[in-house]
This record gives sequence, structure tokens and C-alpha cells, in this order.
Amino acid sequence: MGRIVVTGGAGFIGAHLCRALLERGEQVVAMDNLLTGSVANIEELFGHARFTFVEQDVSSYVWVPGEVDAVLHFASPASPADYLRWPIPTLKVGSLGTHNTLGLAKAKGARYLLASTSEVYGDPTAHPQTETYWGNVNPVGPRGVYDEAKRFAEAMTMAYHRFHGLDVRIARIFNTYGPRMRRKDGRVVSTFIVQALSGEPLTVHGSGEQTRSFCYVDDTVRGLLALLDGDVVGPVNIGNPSEFTVRELAELVFEVVGATQPLVFDDLPEDDPRQRCPDITLATERLGWQPEVDLRTGLERTAAWFRQRVAVQRPD
Ligand code: UDP
Repeated sequence: MGRIVVTGGAGFIGAHLCRALLERGEQVVAMDNLLTGSVANIEELFGHARFTFVEQDVSSYVWVPGEVDAVLHFASPASPADYLRWPIPTLKVGSLGTHNTLGLAKAKGARYLLASTSEVYGDPTAHPQTETYWGNVNPVGPRGVYDEAKRFAEAMTMAYHRFHGLDVRIARIFNTYGPRMRRKDGRVVSTFIVQALSGEPLTVHGSGEQTRSFCYVDDTVRGLLALLDGDVVGPVNIGNPSEFTVRELAELVFEVVGATQPLVFDDLPEDDPRQRCPDITLATERLGWQPEVDLRTGLERTAAWFRQRVAVQRPD
């Protein structure tokens, strides 16, 4: 049991992580500037005796009074639509925010876990992606603001590890989905489910033959906790290796929601990766972790959650 700072604690994965940490008895200090995070994600945690929330942008100096055992850096816009809308805050939180939170961890003698991303592989030329693959990122393309910020964040984290001896972990998180995604966050799973539930056509970018590998959020959080608790610095891929084309995802969403609408095709966004699939040998062998929730089951749970929100038409 310890006292754990979660930056991005009001975000999609951050809020699930806060909940899981509280369930296992930790004290949690959640930080978020609420740019893409939402108090609604954590509102039932406010009454919890071991939970504190601080509204703060970690791209500026960050300090937490008292003992801290771990700092988990999850603050960042993470949906392509979000980081295209907020390119500079994305670059700042990945660079300055990582530096500041590493500084906090160092001052407190705390363990540090960086939420990195499969985007460090860019549009990968190796498939599936192992942690030893260096990636294929366009630094000056529109996605570069996220990809390069996270690549910098990994480099900075390793520098603190090597130079200061900081106890660090790096997770490369692949596409994660589940309840608490924003209805309009632009990511494919939330977008398709909300469109299917609303009777709107599903918007497929490009031909829909590009692939992604979708991990249910509970599996992702279990993997992150295994990484936090284990002795592997990483980077470690945390994702589900079952790979689907975007068109296959659309078909599965129709089956789960019980609707069929037309697909409408628009342009593939610039630098949109053509394929993405994690090799999770390292996580399986060294952390004893693998995903348990298949895509159909996860989509059913996610659709059940969105069904309520689509009905009440909340603005997010
Ligand atoms: N995508 C799509 N329709 C949408 C949103 C996304 O076809 O309404 C595609 C997107 O172009 C990409 C894939 O779905 O090929 C996954 O996109 P997402 O934004 O969820 O995450 P990414 O893996 O690109 O970060």
C-alpha cells in the first residue's frame, strides 16, 4: 500500500487506473487540467477517504506535499482528434510534463511509470511490433506532436533512470477502449458505437483495410499494474494482439448493437498507420500478463455504457 500520484487521473485510462488503485488499498492523488479529462470520470471517487483530486497542468511546475511512493504519468491528449486540436499542449505535456513529474518522483524517491504509446512505432514497417523495433515516425507530420512527445518522454525517463538511478517503468499502450471514453473523442471504437446507436452512418477513414488491435480497458489496467509491481523497466507493450481491420470492427459493432447502417468512406488521415499489432511476449513472459476480454465481449460492455449516455445526450 502506498501513496500514488496519477497525472491525467480524470482521463479515460487514468480514471480506471485510479479506481483500480483505490480498490487495492492505495492512496491516490489524481491530477488533471481537465483539457480532455472530465470530473464526471471520477465523480464517485470524491467521497473516498483515500482519494484526492488536484486540478493542475503538469506542464508547469508540479509539487505534492507529503510522501509519494509512485508517480504514474498518464496526462496527455491521446485521441488523434484531440492532439490535432491541441498540438502544443500535447507536446508540452509529453516533454515538460514528463520532466516535471520525473522531478517529482526523484525528489520523493518514488517509482515512476510512463504511459507511452504504440504511436512511438509510427506507421510500422515491422509487424507485429516488438519493443526492439525503433519505429517509423514522421516528425513533421500532424501526428508527430504526439509521437515525438512520447518518444522524448521515453528518452527523458531513461535518462533519469540511467543518470539519477530513478526506478522507472515504461508502458507502450496500444489502442484501448471501454466505458468512459468520451462520446465525441474521435477514436474509432467510441465513434462507431455512438454512430450505430444513433442510427447514423459509420465513418470509415480510407478503405477501412488498415488494422488496429483493440484492448479492453480492464485488461490494459491489469497490465499496467503488473508492470508497476514488477521489476521490468521496459518499454513493455500493453495491448491485445488480436488484430482487426477497421471494416471488421464496423461489422462487429453492427452485430453487437443490433443495427446496420451504411458505411461512409472519407480520406485516410495523413500518416494514419496502416497496421498495428503488439507482440506481447515480453509482458506475458516477464509480467505474467495477457488480455482476457475478447473484442466482442468488450464491445458489448462498452455499448451498454454508451447506450445510457446516447439516450441522455450529454454534451461530451
Ligand atoms: N477511424 C475511422 N473512422 C473514425 C475514426 C477513426 O475509420 O470515425 C480509423 C482511423 O483512421 C484509424 C483507426 O480507425 O485508421 C483507429 O483510429 P483511432 O483514432 O481510434 O486511433 P489511432 O489508432 O489512429 O490512434
